[in-house]
Amino acid sequence: MLAARMYGYNKPLVLEDIEVPEILPDQVLVRVGGAGMCRSDVQLIDGYFAEALNTKFPITPGHEIAGLVTALGDQVPKSAQLAIGDQVVVATGWGDGICRQCRLGNEQLCEHGSWPGFGPPGGYAEFIPVPYKHLIRIEHKMKWEELAPLTDAGVTPYRGIKKLRAAGVLGPDRVMGVFGASGLGNYAVQYAKLLSSGATVVAFARNDEKLAIVKQRGADVTINTRGKSLKDLQAELFKLTGKRTLDAAIDCVGAEETIRTGIGLLATAGVYTSVGMVGTKIEIPLFPFTAREITYHGSFWANYSDLQEVLALAQKGKIQHSIKPVRFQDINENLELLRAGDIIGRAVVVFDVDRNAPNRRDEKVAVTF
Ligand SMILES: [Zn+2]
Repeated sequence: MLAARMYGYNKPLVLEDIEVPEILPDQVLVRVGGAGMCRSDVQLIDGYFAEALNTKFPITPGHEIAGLVTALGDQVPKSAQLAIGDQVVVATGWGDGICRQCRLGNEQLCEHGSWPGFGPPGGYAEFIPVPYKHLIRIEHKMKWEELAPLTDAGVTPYRGIKKLRAAGVLGPDRVMGVFGASGLGNYAVQYAKLLSSGATVVAFARNDEKLAIVKQRGADVTINTRGKSLKDLQAELFKLTGKRTLDAAIDCVGAEETIRTGIGLLATAGVYTSVGMVGTKIEIPLFPFTAREITYHGSFWANYSDLQEVLALAQKGKIQHSIKPVRFQDINENLELLRAGDIIGRAVVVFDVDRNAPNRRDEKVAVTF
């Protein structure tokens, strides 16, 4: 099978022909239909996660994965309700299943966890072995390029915005900010509209073309932040919304500058959620943070239930997608575009796999207890 693999940091991926992986008894062999390309793939290549991962090369990146079930291990139980031909996505964050966070359902927070594409083989390959319990079956089949990104770009802001909702700072007379208008921001503005009970949603980014798209996706107002001071932005926000501050914000970028701006625009008792991780640290003035009772949430990826909720929305047609399909052989070129911030929407590697291939749900497949 074809695979794009990493043999070291700061080098292009090597596109090669390798053996199709064997599956363990509790695994499913998934034929990859689509694999989303994430800025964190560029960070992986640049060594951003080197310390955290302590992984061995080669690595097959690609953590936004959708595909077809092509083989089932002997110990995949019938209760998993998986059959050959099923369209599935891979829920990432594979925990040990026994720690407190895993027991709470937050396997992506497991201290002993792993993530396909950051150790276990990822989706930049034609086939991938996946433990059956990390697959979610798609009832109403979707296009690969629209389905795959939902497992990260399409679900990470969803979890972050649920934290803002739980904090009680969203409502009709509120203003919510979305920082970033690329992969995650495109989805974030839609969840902001869906979950914010009528709040005014303001998108902030530095690229007019990207801002025009998030406007189409539902942002009420957009502000280009390039070259503007905090005062300029407060004035522009006031002109556009009648308010100088944000009650809530989700940061899909996570650059030091975005964080400073975002926190600077926050209202007293405002709530901020970081999902983007472009920078490496948070530097914000402490006195106003404390005296104005600001709340700052980290929000990491999403758990299985968050993904199920997003997939339910998507299968009902309630999510609009901004996608750039990419051919396998063009992966390296597109990683460079991602690095430069020159991809509009989400780039997705799409393989030639018929998602409507006959489903063998009614046939006897290799399932035993
Ligand atoms: Zn765990």
